[in-house]
Amino acid sequence: MKKKDKVDYVKNGKRLDGRKVDELRPIKIEAGVLQRADGSAYLEWGQNKVLVAVYGPREALPKHIQNPYRALVNYNYRMATFSVPDRKSPKPGRREIEISKVSGEALERAIFLERFPNTTIDVFVEILDSNAGTRVAALSAASVALADAGIPMRDLVSAVGVGKAGGEVILDLNKAEEDAPDAVDMPIAMLPRTKEIVLLQMDGLFTKKEWQKSMKLAEKGCEQVYEAQREALRKKFLEAEKEDKKSKKAGDQ
Ligand code: UDP
Repeated sequence: MKKKDKVDYVKNGKRLDGRKVDELRPIKIEAGVLQRADGSAYLEWGQNKVLVAVYGPREALPKHIQNPYRALVNYNYRMATFSVPDRKSPKPGRREIEISKVSGEALERAIFLERFPNTTIDVFVEILDSNAGTRVAALSAASVALADAGIPMRDLVSAVGVGKAGGEVILDLNKAEEDAPDAVDMPIAMLPRTKEIVLLQMDGLFTKKEWQKSMKLAEKGCEQVYEAQREALRKKFLEAEKEDKKSKKAGDQ
């Protein structure tokens, strides 16, 4: 690459989109957005838009898949055909199958599965728009939807991407940063109270120092995601309480 073609991924402390190295894109989460589902959530994280529906725990069928000791988590991550620059085939590809597997396993660490033998907890994720970081956005939204469904959990799962672009360790990479020639992309999910890591994937290579720096950034990022998740649930349950009081009052009259 010629020197003049070199992109400064961080210049004067600012990234291409104006963020600081440790700054997340704006996050908005709403719990309880779908009537038909037992639990649901809608999340916007920068350009990423994610809708999650949770069903269950319900009888696992066919019966031979049932586990008499615990519930199964069936996580379905799908990208809408229109959510990416080049039309995506509606058929689930290798990437979606892999993301579904590791994300389901991450949620299993949080849910008290042993309380629901022979059942399945189905989590349906639809990515409606994307700009890198959709698996962590989806996982964060999914744990809000599980809480909305009233499924008992040790903690929420909060997830974030960290990585490197242009030699700089940065939080929450966007697509331009993920496409940097030296990019490292590391999605991480944790149970924020205990800091237990329940998902960690990595594309690219870090030095030991970069790794330590990115783990610190990830922890900081997950704490912010956790706050947004709890705020969404607080709002949902305060509204439900208000509705409940209103209908009780109407019943008394
Ligand atoms: N992407 C795409 N087509 C695909 C898959 C992904 O254009 O078939 C884009 C999409 O915007 C996604 C980004 O590439 O968010 C990064 O994808 P990656 O596999 O790293 O997963 P993510 O960062 O979204 O979890």
